Amino acid sequence: MTELTGPLVVVANRLPVSRGPDGWTASSGGLVTAMRPVVEQAGGAWIGWDDDPDGVPDHVEGLACELLPVSLTKAQVRGYYHGLANRTLWPLFHDLIVHPVIDRRWWRTYEEANQRFADRIAEVVEEGDRPPLVWIQDYHLLLLPAMVRSRLPDVPIGFFLHTPFPPPELFARLPWRDQILQGMLAADAIGFHTPQYRDNFVRSVQQLFNGIAVTGDQLNLPDGRRVRAVDHPISIDAAEFGDLAVSGPTEADLAELREQFAGRKVFLGVDRLDYTKGIRHRLQSIELLLERNPELRGKLAFVQIAVPSRDDVKEYRDLRTSVETEVGRINGRFTEPGHDVPVHYLYRAVPRESLAAYYRLADVMCVTPLKDGMNLVAKEFVTVQAAADGDGVLLLSEFCGTSIEFGDDAVRTNPFDVESQSYLMESALEIDEADRIERIQRMAARVRDHDVYRWVTDELDGIQRASAQP
Ligand code: UDP
Repeated sequence: MTELTGPLVVVANRLPVSRGPDGWTASSGGLVTAMRPVVEQAGGAWIGWDDDPDGVPDHVEGLACELLPVSLTKAQVRGYYHGLANRTLWPLFHDLIVHPVIDRRWWRTYEEANQRFADRIAEVVEEGDRPPLVWIQDYHLLLLPAMVRSRLPDVPIGFFLHTPFPPPELFARLPWRDQILQGMLAADAIGFHTPQYRDNFVRSVQQLFNGIAVTGDQLNLPDGRRVRAVDHPISIDAAEFGDLAVSGPTEADLAELREQFAGRKVFLGVDRLDYTKGIRHRLQSIELLLERNPELRGKLAFVQIAVPSRDDVKEYRDLRTSVETEVGRINGRFTEPGHDVPVHYLYRAVPRESLAAYYRLADVMCVTPLKDGMNLVAKEFVTVQAAADGDGVLLLSEFCGTSIEFGDDAVRTNPFDVESQSYLMESALEIDEADRIERIQRMAARVRDHDVYRWVTDELDGIQRASAQP
């Protein structure tokens, strides 16, 4: 575990808590779990947008850090979050799967909102007795490193981008490209999931600014500052998912699912309902598979868990309509009277035990995004399968960060080519059992060795080292 010399201040768009029927609880994500030991040892705070009309408590049971909310006006939320973050940067950073909207008013509120976060960080640093390490997360806060640096020149600052960084020729379309790069370059260390995203960033910097020399992972700026750009793939708490795979509630859910899907091969998709995830392309491949192979009808089920996401953004509402149209068409075409439908579509989030049961049930897990920074679902699937001695197959898009880590142990697909993808789905059913088991075990071993604790350690060590260099 990383030994920090001062407290840790994590800054992210959202606070790591959610309100359920029993009140406020810590979020169950891997990042929160992995940071818990570091925060407990060094002390710390988490700064995030106060997205609740009644406010968020300072502390939540089981989470050893102080919660420091940032309040934003309704207009700021519209421009900064729904606008610039989710309708400009998100599509641009995912290779223009939909067209980014360019709106100067959104940019102004994005600057304002980043400034609100900077004010909050300055307050925390002024109140504290030891300088903290400030660790800023993601595409909502790209300007923040520079805003913090101008007020607190000596504080160690790290930035991690959870999305891809696009190729320079796409990034260059952004009217505010210089400000964004300058914002990021004020950090001591900038982390990306893969070497490709890192290189895209470094090439953008070199193309847009003069006088920046690159040696290894270090960028030497004209003012003498040095910034490290590194690749640290995020991951999951593999031990926790391994335990979850064979827990009592998971076994009970699995028994029910096995009864429901008896005699059928199960293909599974688990995604937020986002246009980056390739859900429509996946459904079209399933349709082609059933069209070509009448003998599979009635013997194959495709389960799609679609977690509601950003439904106040038009592109997401449109996506939902078109996904649900596809599901209806396929079920209309291939359901035999008196028999079950081929596509089971769940528009909701499911509890973790139930999710683990679906991962165990699946014969073929379809992780086929058109573009995805990492994709944790793929890592969870192999971990759960391996813990239960499973032999499921992972069909994995070439265009997600995870595919670099798993190589040929996954069946690699180009999701844009829906016809080839449908043949790959077919071939996934023909891999022999011993091979399937070995592949799952190798992928799970990779996740165990590179779990989320390692990601946190690599990131924080890297920021400390980068900020300590002369
Ligand atoms: N997930 C969940 N409930 C669900 C379906 C998914 O909590 O019903 C979780 C899943 O376990 C995973 C996360 O949502 O940890 C999705 O992460 P991923 O990196 O795959 O995609 P993202 O949503 O971050 O783009």
